[in-house]
Amino acid sequence: MKGKVFLVGAGPGAVDLLTLRAARLLSEAEVVFHDALVNAEILALAARAKLIPVGKRCGRFSTAQTFINKQLIDAARKHPVIVRLKGGDPMLFGRAQEEIDALTAAGIEVEVVPGITAALAASASLKVSLTRRGVARNVAFVTPRIGKMEAASDWLASAVAADTVVIYMGAGEAGAIALALIERGRSASTPVAVIENASLPTEHWRFGALRNLPALAENLGAGPAVIVLGQVLRERAQAEATVRELLRQAG
Ligand code: SAH
Repeated sequence: MKGKVFLVGAGPGAVDLLTLRAARLLSEAEVVFHDALVNAEILALAARAKLIPVGKRCGRFSTAQTFINKQLIDAARKHPVIVRLKGGDPMLFGRAQEEIDALTAAGIEVEVVPGITAALAASASLKVSLTRRGVARNVAFVTPRIGKMEAASDWLASAVAADTVVIYMGAGEAGAIALALIERGRSASTPVAVIENASLPTEHWRFGALRNLPALAENLGAGPAVIVLGQVLRERAQAEATVRELLRQAG
């Protein structure tokens, strides 16, 4: 028999930010392969499925991509509906192409179900539009993270040029990122925000300027975080700075 593999976006965390299609497929699936980032409430929707964690958490256990591909192919030969659940949107920073290509080469049908990506969840949490008339007409989603055996990419060029930038998988190296951006010409006063666990009850964010990014990203919790930078954040960053100053004076 030949099953079908659905690459499904789990969204940023909150269970009610899943698409209806994702929820339906989870309830129908016999097997769900999921990233470490996907939260338990979402996995609970896969009531009849065998759940198989396949890692993908910086610095912790993660399953080799070729082995994941093989597991997906094997599962599709045994079951009709297989869900490969990925945090956020599957098509951004999720190695979806490798899975699609491996499945297609094995003659297995694939369908992709989009999800809300971290950048958009962060924008909603901050209540700051990533584009704005007269201020920002483009947005770059970038990551400084380079996988093993992967060619280096000049992510900095677009992070310097874009009006608004959302940096994935970068909070752990905020110091190096701030330095590199400033060195390449991004103003040290560019407003920035760091948002952890966007969309979850545990979400929190900090605003500041690029020059203080290292301090903003310090002592984050264990959750995933994105860095946002650009002039769209200016008013919010100034308001936060005023509040901080008032709190400091109140002592
Ligand atoms: N495909 C995912 C991204 C995978 S890379 C998506 O579309 O969102 C993993 C990175 O996403 C994390 O290191 C972090 O930078 C970001 N991320 C994922 N969920 C997040 C959340 N709820 N809040 C903030 N950042 C998040």
